[in-house]
Amino acid sequence: MSDYSYPYKDAEFLINEIIGFDEFCQSAGLDEVNSELVSAIFEEANRFSTEVIVPLNVIGDQNGATLGEDGVQQTEGFTEAYRQYVDNGWAGLAFPEEYGGQGMPKLVGTAVDEIWQSSNLAFSLCSLLTHGAVELLIKHGSEELRNAYVTNMVSGEWAGSMNLTESSAGSDLAAVVTRAVPEGDHFLITGQKIFISWGDHQMTDNVIHLVLARLPDAPAGSRGISLFLVPKFLLDEQGNPGERNDVHCVSLEHKLGIHASPTCVMAFGDEGGAVGYLVGEQNRGLVAMFTMMNDARQGVGLEGLSLSTRSYQQALQYAQERLQGTHSDGSRFPIIEFPDVRRMLMTMKAATEAMRGLAYIASAEIDLARYSSDPEKAARHSSRIDLYTPIVKGWMSELAQEITSLGIQVYGGMGYVEESGIAQHYRDARILTIYEGTTGIQGQDLVGRKILANNGEHLDDLLAEIQLTVDELNASTELSGLAPALQNAVDNGRTASQWLLDNAGNDRNVAGAVSVNFMMMLGYLCGAWVMGRSAVKAEQLLSTSGDDAFLEAKLVTTRFYFEHLLPRADSCFRTILSGSESMMALAVEQF
Ligand SMILES: Cc1cc2nc3c(=O)[nH]c(=O)nc-3n(C[C@H](O)[C@H](O)[C@H](O)COP(=O)(O)OP(=O)(O)OC[C@H]3O[C@@H](n4cnc5c(N)ncnc54)[C@H](O)[C@@H]3O)c2cc1C
Repeated sequence: MSDYSYPYKDAEFLINEIIGFDEFCQSAGLDEVNSELVSAIFEEANRFSTEVIVPLNVIGDQNGATLGEDGVQQTEGFTEAYRQYVDNGWAGLAFPEEYGGQGMPKLVGTAVDEIWQSSNLAFSLCSLLTHGAVELLIKHGSEELRNAYVTNMVSGEWAGSMNLTESSAGSDLAAVVTRAVPEGDHFLITGQKIFISWGDHQMTDNVIHLVLARLPDAPAGSRGISLFLVPKFLLDEQGNPGERNDVHCVSLEHKLGIHASPTCVMAFGDEGGAVGYLVGEQNRGLVAMFTMMNDARQGVGLEGLSLSTRSYQQALQYAQERLQGTHSDGSRFPIIEFPDVRRMLMTMKAATEAMRGLAYIASAEIDLARYSSDPEKAARHSSRIDLYTPIVKGWMSELAQEITSLGIQVYGGMGYVEESGIAQHYRDARILTIYEGTTGIQGQDLVGRKILANNGEHLDDLLAEIQLTVDELNASTELSGLAPALQNAVDNGRTASQWLLDNAGNDRNVAGAVSVNFMMMLGYLCGAWVMGRSAVKAEQLLSTSGDDAFLEAKLVTTRFYFEHLLPRADSCFRTILSGSESMMALAVEQF
């Protein structure tokens, strides 16, 4: 069973009613973009996806990428599907028109990415990486590099890849040892990168690797890392792929999920040195790389939503069909009627809707920052993006573990059997908390760079905005019952922030000890905020809109979220206040 359909109603409710897309487009001067056009885009993406990309998901799982003499060979059918994806203009949907893109807002790109990711995560990963590489080159590449590479990457004719990890440099990128030696107008790169997603394949005429490496005289640590563009094929005088560069995939990992996404060991310079071009300033490569990493981190958070949605849709269908209960008259009924199966399905439904809300709101912040003509407002939106990124990545990828696992549970024994197809989502989802920075790294980023570094000001700003929703709930006769729980979570957020500011300086373990709980607490809180806003809007629309069933379901789902998921924020809060003591008390030998 592999049916999938984009949840239009929820997405369009969010985009139109919560985010206010049409008003935003008007204020941003995007005269030709509106919600009607976006609906048509979603419909076409959904059609293409269900007809072409969804059927390749199981095929890719069972017949992963392989390595042969000519490099990595992707799963059969992927090249043709990718070709159609490019020919239909999907690759450049949300890129600037100046580079041949269609200039759609990031929010539209994110929503359409949800469709690709839900349909086939392994397939979509190739474009996710190219996307980040383009953002990086537009922001940090020289004019020469931008002119030579970006247009072909925007169109999808060439793909991008991200080369950070080495065997001794995973979370700790300061340990990178790949070397870059200057030679004329370029550098010669030597070293080995591991775990490189889509590091090689035949779907595109070129693969543009973005590679972290060290110059010979570079200072030690993260301040001595530079960034290089290393094409698989060097460009000839006409700018077309020509001579093969000295970079090759030397082996592929066998792994738990995303089998169709080749995870490559990449050797640079085995024959003397791969030609690379400096991107940005020498020794400031990590700063530039963060443009790609932040883009990918939000993308991986979205993957959590996408796989959870896919798993939910399948579980729901199964629960409606699987007969297990028997009525007193002897007739049988489907498992969806059991309260405990409802608990699982409602958890899946409420979690996916809350995740979608947060992911789309975070994407809309990127548009708001980009199109704002007021520098102060743009800076505020940028700070908000910074704060959201680790929450989107960390909370959503962690929640996806539970939701895709519940998908299996709804199926019972059949869930554990590969034939039913639900287990693939669980296996595919397992990487999400690991790549693009583990959950531990997201927590540290949140607590260190996004809270402590600005004295909690950016978080205060977010909590003040959530407080407005508490006030709206309080003002509503129908919804005031939801207000105390959200108020409590906001108050806990404020107390935890102050506690962190007071204690992080006294004990060097505190920030690391509480960071993941902090991130999860804010994730559940942001989810409640989105659901609370949705409930307020649904309540207002109920008297005017034709879709009462959707709006009523939104109100019930919000109540479920507040009763069943939001209390987890309270548990995280109490754990935060216990600090690091019991966590760090045992000597290493006592384990
Ligand atoms: C399928 C797959 C695809 C990947 N794709 C890419 C890719 O395209 N490009 C690329 O460059 N890399 C890629 N990676 C690598 C991935 O980003 C790393 O595996 C990840 O960053 C973790 O690094 P590590 O494996 O070395 O684990 P380690 O860094 O050794 O971490 C092990 C454990 O220690 C914890 N830990 C480590 N340091 C800290 C710390 N400072 N604070 C708290 N906890 C810490 C981690 O959270 C983790 O639980 C991929 C990996 C896989 C498996």
